[in-house]
Amino acid sequence: MSKATATTNVDFSTLGLDDTLLKAVQEAGYKKPTPVQAKAIPMALTGRDMMASAQTGTGKTASFTLPILQRLSQMKASNAVRALVLVPTRELALQVFESFKTYGKHTELKTVAVFGGVDIEEQLTALSKGADILVATPGRLADMINRKHIQLTNLRILVLDEADRMLDLGFKDDIERILKNAPVKRQNLLFSATFSKDIKQLAHDFMRHPVKVEIENPNSAAKTVKQSFYPVDQPDKPEILSYLINGGKFKKALVFVRTKKAANRIAELLEEDGINAQPIHSDINQYQRVRTLEDFKDGYFDVLVATDVAARGLDIEQLPLVINFDLPKVPQDYVHRIGRTGRAGQPGRAIALINPEEKKHLLPSLQKLLNRPIEIEPLPYFEDGEVRPNESETPAAKPRNRGRKPDPKAKKPAIKKYAGKTTGKRGGSKPATGAARGARRPSAPSGSKRKS
Ligand code: AMP
Repeated sequence: MSKATATTNVDFSTLGLDDTLLKAVQEAGYKKPTPVQAKAIPMALTGRDMMASAQTGTGKTASFTLPILQRLSQMKASNAVRALVLVPTRELALQVFESFKTYGKHTELKTVAVFGGVDIEEQLTALSKGADILVATPGRLADMINRKHIQLTNLRILVLDEADRMLDLGFKDDIERILKNAPVKRQNLLFSATFSKDIKQLAHDFMRHPVKVEIENPNSAAKTVKQSFYPVDQPDKPEILSYLINGGKFKKALVFVRTKKAANRIAELLEEDGINAQPIHSDINQYQRVRTLEDFKDGYFDVLVATDVAARGLDIEQLPLVINFDLPKVPQDYVHRIGRTGRAGQPGRAIALINPEEKKHLLPSLQKLLNRPIEIEPLPYFEDGEVRPNESETPAAKPRNRGRKPDPKAKKPAIKKYAGKTTGKRGGSKPATGAARGARRPSAPSGSKRKS
């Protein structure tokens, strides 16, 4: 568990949680609840339906795991699933499962996670031993219900986590199929980064007068994230990407691309530029995805190149930088992507590389969603890892830069096209700073991407 900085002055002890749970929270190292926890936990404990706008990184998982653990502990024990958490991806399923284990370690409650892409038999065996709480992706669970492997007749609490994403991924029918098998009298909790029309419709369809918990404008990207948009032609993007990562001396970065192929290719190109990078996408098998993520967290490589589906719900603590190599087709995905930096009140940085097509076709809708004008800035140059404004903005910056030796590795011409006005050099000659640069996990195939 990361120790994200909480941003309220409220004490956990005032939220109505039992001592066993407070103990687990304390052992997780949390000092104060985050804003969504401070509002959502007491509300969820009342048993009312609730819809909360909360992005990944806000501490939303504890906002429903803690009340579920408490409410189930107070109910009569049974051998049947009484709480179900539906999540869009396997990664999120595993993270939510881990949260239940962490916060529920002083309780007797059992949690099982089921998700696609792995052998169903093992999950069925786990289920047959009894589960109070089930964390599931909708496809796999609908399949299990269909085959009569599982019953939801005792369900008391349902959570739709990252509901907007589940709809984006086309899980609406599966969700409906699953809910047909559950009792109507239950508590429903819905978490979503955005309250789009579709989400409101979903809430209307299956919730009863939900209380709304809104932490900040769900469509506004985290306030602590500084966002920059740089104009770059598509073929030049890989070079500019290395330039930005190296020059800014970012210790870690998450790069978003649109396709699996691009994730592999960009990770390879970054490696060629001396930046340790790994791809993560849905063609990489589950074991390797989890392992890649762990390696990233542990600092065995510095840049994770991800597709939206693979990155959704990844619990990556405190990323200093998110780069949108491609702008997502769905503007909401931009908000999700940059939610990976500036988490729990920490400052963050988000950069988007915008080609002319993206500027024309995708920026207008993003601008509308963010509800503010997007300024396309000239590419910055870097001095000692510090961003300096382009000389067109600050003429005085030029003399400071004159004494710099040309970078021997500055073999590629694209930088000149964008930042050339100011420096004509690559931003940083050294590879990005990660202390662990080159310090690969010994068992990892050396220098290779872990493709499935
Ligand atoms: P989530 O938004 O649930 O994915 O949580 C984001 C990260 O914040 C996770 O790594 C949590 O372990 C961490 N976190 C959650 N609540 C707190 C808290 N109250 N104080 C510090 N860190 C927290």
